[in-house]
Amino acid sequence: MIRIAAKPVLEVRRKKLIEQTAQLKSATGRIPHLSVILVGDDPASRIYVQKKGETAELMGFTHETILFPEAATPAEVLACVKKLNENPAVDGILMQRPLPKQFNEKDVVFWVAPEKDVDCLHPENVGLLVNGNPRFLPCTPAGVMFLLEHYQLSVEKKTACVIGRSSIVGKPLAALLLGKNASVIQIHRSTPNPKGLCRQADFVFVAAGVPALVNADWIKPGAVVVDVGIHRTADGKVIGDVAPGSLDGIASALTPVPGGVGPMTIQVLLENTYQSCKSKK
Ligand code: NAD
Repeated sequence: MIRIAAKPVLEVRRKKLIEQTAQLKSATGRIPHLSVILVGDDPASRIYVQKKGETAELMGFTHETILFPEAATPAEVLACVKKLNENPAVDGILMQRPLPKQFNEKDVVFWVAPEKDVDCLHPENVGLLVNGNPRFLPCTPAGVMFLLEHYQLSVEKKTACVIGRSSIVGKPLAALLLGKNASVIQIHRSTPNPKGLCRQADFVFVAAGVPALVNADWIKPGAVVVDVGIHRTADGKVIGDVAPGSLDGIASALTPVPGGVGPMTIQVLLENTYQSCKSKK
């Protein structure tokens, strides 16, 4: 079974991004800058934000994290986002999710200016993506596509099953797969006979957010399986949405958890920030 690990992919893409950043700086004096907004004290979000900052520095970027307390009002945070939107030194703005309950996601997606929306969540950017003309690539789904590309696993003319339909993973991933000429089956909580549908697929992308949901019953022998899920078990292990070990001898290729899709997301975020900086008028 092929182990679709992120490490060799990141080695290549990080080296390229470091070089491009240095070139941009010497040619134009510009340095990509990422601003991250974190509201509240979610421990996992704190770790993600810290990793984003560390990796941004490794690439030669500048970055900042703006902290708000859990009880911050949407108006306060929006005022901060507006300042960042207007600041020409800021290339990318990311609002770390999940946001506290006083924030309405349907409103928040409009806050970051589309030209700085490196998370690709603004409806204008989602529309461009669905039209096949993306301004920015959606971070986790594009990370998945870069993994497949590196391991030369082509979805062209294949059947792909996406388990999950969130705005951050399932829907944009389906759009990217359609763009690569896959035929896409999308499964969600209300899908009857999900296992039977999934077993038709040559490629399976699991983003249900349910630990160890998928096992051999879901997978056609020889299928390629990408596990987007990340969960910490009671004994401190990190597992995905695929039951560990359940696809040995069934799948032809599988992403490990950890070390598969997870680390790709930050890479795409930083590549988007670089593109934003480079294309600035
Ligand atoms: P979400 O909870 O927003 O969406 C889950 C989706 O799965 C929903 O559309 C739901 O209908 C579907 N679903 C839930 N249970 C199902 C079931 N039993 N059968 C079929 N469909 C079902 O989750 P999300 O934000 O899309 O994240 C999914 C997983 O990916 C989580 O484990 C999350 O931690 C992980 N994730 C990883 C990264 C990364 O960087 N690697 C990024 C985002 C999310």
